[in-house]
Amino acid sequence: MGYEAIIGLEVHAQLLTKTKIFCSCSTEFGAPPNTHTCPVCLGMPGVLPVLNRKVVEYTIRMALATNCTIARESRFARKNYFYPDLPKGYQISQYELPIAEYGHIFIWANQERKRVGITRIHMEEDAGKLIHDPYRPISFVDFNRTGVPLIEIVSEPDIRTPEEAGAYLRQLRAILRYLEICDGNMEEGSFRCDANVSVRHAGVETFGTRTELKNMNSFRHVENALAHEIRRQEAIIEDGGEVAQETRLWDADKGVTLPMRGKEEAHDYRYFPDPDLLPIVIDEGWVEKIRGTLPELPDDKKARFIEEYGLPPYDAQVLTSSRPLADYFETCVKHFQEPKTVSNWVMGSILATLKAENKTIEEAPVSPERLAELLRLIDSGVISGKIAKRVFDEMVSSGKPPEMIVQEKGLVQVTDASAIAEVVKQVLAEHEKEVSDYKAGKTKLFGFFVGQVMKATRGKANPKIVNEILRQMLEE
Ligand code: ADP
Ligand code: MG
Ligand code: ZN
Repeated sequence: MGYEAIIGLEVHAQLLTKTKIFCSCSTEFGAPPNTHTCPVCLGMPGVLPVLNRKVVEYTIRMALATNCTIARESRFARKNYFYPDLPKGYQISQYELPIAEYGHIFIWANQERKRVGITRIHMEEDAGKLIHDPYRPISFVDFNRTGVPLIEIVSEPDIRTPEEAGAYLRQLRAILRYLEICDGNMEEGSFRCDANVSVRHAGVETFGTRTELKNMNSFRHVENALAHEIRRQEAIIEDGGEVAQETRLWDADKGVTLPMRGKEEAHDYRYFPDPDLLPIVIDEGWVEKIRGTLPELPDDKKARFIEEYGLPPYDAQVLTSSRPLADYFETCVKHFQEPKTVSNWVMGSILATLKAENKTIEEAPVSPERLAELLRLIDSGVISGKIAKRVFDEMVSSGKPPEMIVQEKGLVQVTDASAIAEVVKQVLAEHEKEVSDYKAGKTKLFGFFVGQVMKATRGKANPKIVNEILRQMLEE
């Protein structure tokens, strides 16, 4: 019998404010332990938190970008639990009255556009970081991260497959980056995901019992963990068993999820409104002002790339995956107005080079203007497409402009028909057997002759002219 998986994701995104959410300590990553702390974020008695206005502004940006309704009035709540990295004994979060609800985004998975609901977005403070000594039975705690602002984005249980979960996370991260409110770095933990998953028989209305997966620090991990967990739950149901509601940890090395805590051990957080903080009252005028500063978002940019440049949806999706990549493409198109050709080169050579050299698009060794120069050389027939690949590699390694490389290496395409005819004549004379085979009907050999001529000219002969002359001479 067929099964269907139900997936809902909880994402924590660290906001790129300069200071923490309730004090003026720096949020900068990588400082020596416990240097970015003060009585407020260390949870000393008698101190009072003061809300950072930028945190609210950034959260509103995300809420608008994900089509949420923004609450005119919302509240902070205390989430009580003890853990050594949480010096107050409670985390300031939002509970009954979050700042934003009822949103949605669109994702692309399996060539289909799909709507995924956003249940809520709320603000909260991050906890500190425990560092366990690998040799001695002791742990250290670094409070630099305590009080760094987070938003939690909770999705509706609208996701059905691990691929859709991956597409949703990539889209959410792209939006955060477009808005410049989160760097989206999963390895450093500034973009974290907990995945809730259950399975049910196809056609059944009610959801099955869910488990919550933690400890996945890449998109690939989330997809693998979900795929594994879905299979595990299906096997339990097949055997007539029942899935236990519990939290499980993904073990990436073993490729399995392992139980962490069950429902019995689930925390009772005893949420209550934080008496130290006033309700957050948001003025409609401020929201509209923020709306006016939103950039073109990934989904709109993608639609425009399809419409304006006539690109296939796949190209548009890749090119709009980050704002700097989209900008790179558009700058190049400004200088060379053949969007599909530019797209092929950006998605091919440029992205491959960045991957090989582990660089970002901002560090691309070939600027969009230079890439356009190269494409113009091909377009005007100075070099062939094949030689262009060689010139491109040379541009990457030497940083020289394409014309200079073409001149220095003598790569100008040979378009002189009489010179090419000489080479063709010679090639045919050297391959009498193949010529007679060709004339006897083995026409497949045509490609072989083209190859020989290109080899003799070291790839510089204009392929179109080579083809024409070869055809003429072989017909004779
Ligand atoms: P909690 O705060 O205890 O984790 P929530 O009600 O906030 O619980 O739900 C967390 C996430 O779990 C949401 O993303 C939601 O869509 C998802 N979810 C809820 N029920 C199910 C289910 N039966 N199967 C899969 N996901 C679910
Ligand atoms: Mg949860
Ligand atoms: Zn502080």
